[in-house]
Amino acid sequence: MEHVIVIGAGVMGCACAMRLLQAGLKVTLLERSLPGAESSAAAAGILGAQSEVSDAGPFFELCLESRSRFREFAKELEEISDIHVGYEDSGVLEVALDPAEGRLAVGRAEWMLDRGLNVDVLDREEARKIEPALTEQMVGANFYPDDHQVDSVGLARALAASAARLGADFRTGARVSGVSVENGQVTGVITEQGVLNSDRVVVAGGAWSTRLTGLPPLRTSIRPMAGQIIQVETRPPIFRHVVYGYSGYVVPRADGRVLMGSTLEDRGFDKAVTTAGLNRITGMALRMVPGLENARLMDTWSGLRPANEDGFPLLGEASVQGLYFATGHYRNGILLTTITADVIRDLVVHGKTEVDVEAFKP
Ligand SMILES: Cc1cc2nc3c(=O)[nH]c(=O)nc-3n(C[C@H](O)[C@H](O)[C@H](O)COP(=O)(O)OP(=O)(O)OC[C@H]3O[C@@H](n4cnc5c(N)ncnc54)[C@H](O)[C@@H]3O)c2cc1C
Repeated sequence: MEHVIVIGAGVMGCACAMRLLQAGLKVTLLERSLPGAESSAAAAGILGAQSEVSDAGPFFELCLESRSRFREFAKELEEISDIHVGYEDSGVLEVALDPAEGRLAVGRAEWMLDRGLNVDVLDREEARKIEPALTEQMVGANFYPDDHQVDSVGLARALAASAARLGADFRTGARVSGVSVENGQVTGVITEQGVLNSDRVVVAGGAWSTRLTGLPPLRTSIRPMAGQIIQVETRPPIFRHVVYGYSGYVVPRADGRVLMGSTLEDRGFDKAVTTAGLNRITGMALRMVPGLENARLMDTWSGLRPANEDGFPLLGEASVQGLYFATGHYRNGILLTTITADVIRDLVVHGKTEVDVEAFKP
């Protein structure tokens, strides 16, 4: 049986492992810490193909395709793992707080309507009819009914449990320092416990992915971009839709938890939650949903998004044979989990994929 080593057990590593196992391959999954310990469980979980992406092009198309596969993917995961992933058709309201933001929103709606997508351009009254909790101080909103959400913590747990149930050789506490390559072919990975051999290796190490030794030259390196989140609670829930603004977002879960985020900070591998970050996020959230002022504070955290330098993830086989990358998804790694895993399975098993991944070649 063909054997694949996957480095990293965030959503990317676990989803790739799951698809490879389902295709009949043997998978060793190496995680230096615990599954979902990093960016994956820190995410807000917005499946924001339309609200998150600002330009048409191959990345936007990849996001749309992944979004279209997500509902079934969530169902499949819940069936395999018995863990709820919190998929909700909440829709996203992109709120414009001043006329300049209003013009940007209308411009975005125009090219998305041209592409045949669902967008409702709403004035203040129409937007508040859909979501009465929105501020009276806005000029209008774009409604993206097809952008949904998942609970990232549930998703990360369900993916790890699914990979384990499908038979992954799951090794936690296993840090990989590099890959070994001979004559242009990958031969395995180097760990603190010794060398593990395989002629197929998938790199899914999040923000740490391009720090491995032995890698070939790559299109972009991956660096950490920190983001902070504040979780509050409103019982009973006071709103239902994801509210997305030009300086942050507010994500209501069905049970009354609300995630407010985030910051974008280029400060290395520092995951501090800071007073400035909390101040900025709280101000942004209350400007959009004033009713949150009495919400009860539950938790704060931060995570390191795997950022790329050119706007595109590293997805596909590198110039070294058998070495695949599934990383660098930056702000959209939850949304892109499903398509990434499908592409990696297609490439490892069949050597080709029907998804257009030319622009994302490592
Ligand atoms: C605050 C915040 C909000 C976000 N919100 C959203 C959102 O709403 N929607 C969305 O789509 N995306 C969102 N994201 C982005 C998303 O979280 C990431 O793109 C995604 O989780 C990346 O997954 P990953 O598996 O590549 O990385 P990670 O989850 O970081 O996983 C990488 C794993 O690899 C392990 N690892 C690394 N190096 C090694 C090594 N050498 N050996 C062994 N193991 C190793 C790590 O321990 C880690 O567990 C958000 C991110 C943040 C921080």
